Formats: sequence, structure tokens, C-alpha cells
Amino acid sequence: MPDAAGWLLVLKLPALKTIGYEKDADCCLSYQYNLDAACFRTLLNKTSSFESGDVVIGGPPCQPFSVGGYQKGEKDNRDGFPVFIKAVKDIKPKVWLFENVRGLLYKNKLYLQNIIDQLAALGYKIELKLINTSHYKVPQNRERLIVVGHQSRFFLPETQKNKITAYEALGKYYDYAPDNGKYLTASMDKYVKKYETASKCITPRDLHKDMPARTVTCRNIAGATGDMLRLKLPDGRRRRLLVQEAARLQSFPDWFKFQGTELTGVGHIDIADGDTVSPSNLNRQILFDTDALGKSKAVKAAERLAKLNPHITLGIMETHAAPEMLDTVLPDYKMVMDCTDTLTAKLMINRACLKHSIPLCHAGVLGFECRVMTVLPGRSPCVQCLYTDINTDNDTKNGISSEALPTCTEAGILGSVAGFAGTLMATEAVKYITESGDLLVGRVFTADLLHHRYMTIAVEPLPGCICRHVKT
Ligand SMILES: [Zn+2]
Repeated sequence: MPDAAGWLLVLKLPALKTIGYEKDADCCLSYQYNLDAACFRTLLNKTSSFESGDVVIGGPPCQPFSVGGYQKGEKDNRDGFPVFIKAVKDIKPKVWLFENVRGLLYKNKLYLQNIIDQLAALGYKIELKLINTSHYKVPQNRERLIVVGHQSRFFLPETQKNKITAYEALGKYYDYAPDNGKYLTASMDKYVKKYETASKCITPRDLHKDMPARTVTCRNIAGATGDMLRLKLPDGRRRRLLVQEAARLQSFPDWFKFQGTELTGVGHIDIADGDTVSPSNLNRQILFDTDALGKSKAVKAAERLAKLNPHITLGIMETHAAPEMLDTVLPDYKMVMDCTDTLTAKLMINRACLKHSIPLCHAGVLGFECRVMTVLPGRSPCVQCLYTDINTDNDTKNGISSEALPTCTEAGILGSVAGFAGTLMATEAVKYITESGDLLVGRVFTADLLHHRYMTIAVEPLPGCICRHVKT
């Protein structure tokens, strides 16, 4: 759901002309349809030019700007701040505003300070506040950092004592049980119950009549059961929120019509890889060819995918996965496909996905063998549960250090086996997104292609494992 659309609603006044810039086709259509105003479908960059205006509102993606050394600033396609700063410089608005995640105030505060210094140098006074939308009569707990630049005086609205509850926001929908509603099955309910108990969950993800909703995102209305915000009906059944209900919890008026569906976000893929293409990759990494040798894998992979399907949008992160980078980018994702080649990286990605409650598809390939498993945080065992005696602490007292294991570069890997695992992962992703069939959750698929032995083995949650403490 486009955050910027929420901000722009306040600008829907007859005398005000608005212009939008948006990379997603459906968000563009939503803007044009509801605001009756121009919206350019474009991925802004430092050479973009802008129309003039009095107010600039931006929601730049904040990735990747970890201060731990992965910040590539203007070299990184996903970092929208250089473009935002350029827009302010070019347009010279009376007021500008951007919103972003709270992490900018903490781990990434040096980066934020840098942005603020650059904007202040353009002659603006700057106000900055971390707000919770529920304090402003939005029936949703959502924390956002708001940064405003102005040239005279600016006050944020007063916070309100009374919060709007989910019940007040949904009204007649609260107990609504439409025939075509998406109801949780008995086995889904059982799953939810099991992991609420295991994680000592106090406030389940059902909506609660007397309080605002949790943060509402597309993932919360279209994602898998455990992540999903649900309505619990008087007869005990649970159902997924309708788009219009989710919109009400964000304070969108009923007349606002979203284009696309709750699953539209599937059309976007981000690729993170800090490597360049080497000759030994070509036998299995089929997005690359000899022309790509020595070039960035993330860039070349995106170029190839864009040629296969020009209708998807692609993000490029020329960086290896690292804890800070993952903390920054993961909250935005519906699913992560781990295609790294060391167990250390796999366990790190597993931890980060659990921390941010993002579904993960894991695969490991070595020689003629591979294994594939999907992790649904809060509801399934995780990758660490698969590798019970491996740790990433380099601590040999507690099992074997992952650093001591051979990587696929060292142990060798048959290209066709990697392709086999890759197609299984892609199938898992499609099934997760479309909620079809049975995922490899709580079980791992293993294949030995040398002897044609294929098995699906149950995986038990490891006692004391990090996956048992995920909040649901
Ligand atoms: Zn685990």
C-alpha cells in the first residue's frame, strides 16, 4: 500500500495541484484515479528533472545505508535520499517532508545526520519526530520518523489522548462474514495456536476490538497465516482482512480505490549480491554469460530479468548480506530466497528473517546433493534447527563452527543440481504467494541425484532455538 498516497490525501483540495513520481504501475494508477492528478511512472535518479512546486513530500527507500561499511550512498540504486535532496535543491520548495523507518534514528543515525546536514545547508530549519500514528487518530500502531524542513515556523499536530480502535474503524465490517471471505482453515488455526503457545504470545495477531490494529502492510493482509492480521468472528472463525478493511485501518476513506490487488507487490524483486561474475559461475548461474564476466552479479542478473519480463520492477543491491543491511531492508519484503553459498551466510539470513518475521526459502547444494526447506517465522522450525550441531559463533565447544565447513567453491557443485534446487525454491515461492498446496514447512526435502534418492524428512524445532522465541 503506498504510504505516499496517505500523505497526498490531505492535499486533495480543489485549488491544489499535485504531481506524483512513482515507480510502481499500480501505485501510479491509484494516484491518478483517486487524486485526479498527474503521476509519472519512473524510477527517479540523480539526473531526473522535476516540475516546480511549493511542497515536496518524499518517502525515499532507506536502503541500504548501514554505517557498518555497506553504505554506497549515491552509487546505490536503492538509496533514494540523494534524489530527494536533489529534488529539494532543484525545486526550492517552501516546505519539504519525508518519512522513514525508526531505524534511521538509531543504527543509521550518522547517515540521517548526513542527510539533515545537506538539507540544512540548503537554507531550511528542520524538525524531526518519531511518531506513532495511533496518537493522531489513525486506528493503527505504526511508528514513523517524520522530518520536516521549513523556512519560518512549523508545528506537528497535537497528539490525541483517545485512540481510535479497530472496532470503531471497521464498524459493520467487524462481525462481517461474507461468503467469499478468506477464512482460516482448522489446520491453520491449529498452527496459529501451537505457535502462540510456544512463543508465549500475549497479544495474538487477531484484531482487538478495544485497541488500534498492528501495523498494516500488504504482507499483513496477503501473507501467510502467522503474519496476517485477522478478524475473529463471533462464531470463532477467523478471516483475512479485505483490502477496504485494511484501508480503513490506515484511515483511507472508503471512496479511495486501490488499483491492483493485495498481491500486486509480487511484481517486484530485489537482488542482493556483492560479487562479480567469474568463469566458474557460468555452469550453473544461468542469468550470466561470458559478456558478464567481471561485472556486478546484481546488475547483470537484473538486466537479464528485465529482458525476460519488462513488467516487473527490480532493485539492485551490490552488497553481500550482512546483519545491518538485512535489518534495514527486510521489513519491506514478503519473502526472502536465500541463494548464498556458505552456511555462515545462510544462518545469518535465517536469524534476520526470524527477527523481522519474514518467510524464508532455504536451499543448500553440495556435489550431487541438495536440500530445500521453507521457514515461516513463528510457525515452523528454522534453518538452524536443520543444522543442530553447527553454530556461527566460531565456538567449537558448542558443536562445529560453520566457518569450518566446506563451501560449495571448495567442495564442488554440479550445475544441474543447483538448477534443480533453484526450481524447487521458485516453486515454494509461487506456492507461498498463491497459498497453494503444501509448503516444505516443518520438513526438509533432500535429494541425492547421484543415486536418485529423494526424501522429505520431518524437522523438529530445536529446543531453545531462536525460532521458538519469534513473536507472532
Ligand atoms: Zn530453529
